[in-house]
Amino acid sequence: MRGFAMIEPGKTGFIDKEDPKVGPRDALIRPLAVAPCTSDIHTVYEDALGPRQNMILGHEACGVIVEVGSEVKDFKPGDKVLVPAITPNWSDVYSQAGYATDSDGMLGGWKFSNIKDGVFGTRFHVNDADGNLAHLPAEIDPAEACMLSDMIPTGLHASEMAGVTFGDTVAVIGIGPVGLMALRGAVLHGAGRVFAVGSRAKTVEVAKQYGATDIIDYHNGDIADQILAATNGVGVDKVLIAGGDAEHTFADAVKMLKPGGSIGNVNYLNGHDNVVFNAGDWGVGMGHKTIHGGLMPGGRLRMEKLAALVVNGRIDPSLLITHRFEGFEKIPDAIELMHHKPADLIKPVVIC
Ligand code: NDP
Ligand code: ZN
Repeated sequence: MRGFAMIEPGKTGFIDKEDPKVGPRDALIRPLAVAPCTSDIHTVYEDALGPRQNMILGHEACGVIVEVGSEVKDFKPGDKVLVPAITPNWSDVYSQAGYATDSDGMLGGWKFSNIKDGVFGTRFHVNDADGNLAHLPAEIDPAEACMLSDMIPTGLHASEMAGVTFGDTVAVIGIGPVGLMALRGAVLHGAGRVFAVGSRAKTVEVAKQYGATDIIDYHNGDIADQILAATNGVGVDKVLIAGGDAEHTFADAVKMLKPGGSIGNVNYLNGHDNVVFNAGDWGVGMGHKTIHGGLMPGGRLRMEKLAALVVNGRIDPSLLITHRFEGFEKIPDAIELMHHKPADLIKPVVIC
């Protein structure tokens, strides 16, 4: 098989490898469509995970099953499937404890383009096929199905972790595709006023379509000060973080949060950094301001539930897709777009 890989940190290219071996509970998939993620950029160009060599990139895809193991019950060759970016080991005790993303070790549910080859291959391997794949509903086109791998589950998880509820005032920091889905998650959870923090015109336009009531540009000064000013010093109930950095963003989030409020972070921070915020803004340690951070939950049930949001028109993933490429060979072009983030980009998709 052929795949688009991180040859070493900072260097990418197509490589050839043997097809992956299919164990009794596994599946081998041919991609129908794939999408690059900002996380691929962190991995390749920012050394965020540490060194990897000749590792095929990508964790957003839908595809057609080529082969299944002898114990797979609900899927067969030829089936079209949704594939979550996170494919936990459902037998692990952490899965039983409710933290399947941390099965096989912290973040060990994240297998594609982390601890094994990802989905930017002419074939890719899925562990625990019955537990992790979902049938692709006929109503969802393959490009949009790629948004169900990571953007929709990750963004919605930010809102879930923060516990957004009816009438909440919410700030969403970062309105790339992940932040836009966090925003949509907040709206679906019943948020009242929703601040969207970003600057690129296309993302601002789509943030309004997904339900943002106020736009804050972080280039115009401190985010917390802008949002505190807009709320007469009261602040917000929930902050969802899908952009910014470890050094400044949590300080803003903690500062703008009301006592009792909570933060849902899905931003991928650089493992070499420290998260910094002011203890006074955190009620000198006693302000009941909670910080949650999580990898998107994966697995089949989650995929089926989120697909129902798309099929029934609660989330329109087509608004996220600004660039479409035809052909597997175009994966490097899509990665380059994600690397340089032109003003008109939200998310590129490659139809294979
Ligand atoms: P984008 O780069 O498309 O979006 C980032 C957003 O953050 C943009 O709106 C950008 O604004 C904004 N931003 C940039 N700098 C600042 C700043 N200093 N203060 C406030 N906002 C800022 O990223 P994605 O939406 O693709 O991904 C977001 C993050 O989520 C990434 O770190 C990604 O790796 C991570 N991720 C996490 C997953 C998980 O499971 N937890 C899974 C998938 C992704 P502007 O409009 O100016 O560009
Ligand atoms: Zn991702």
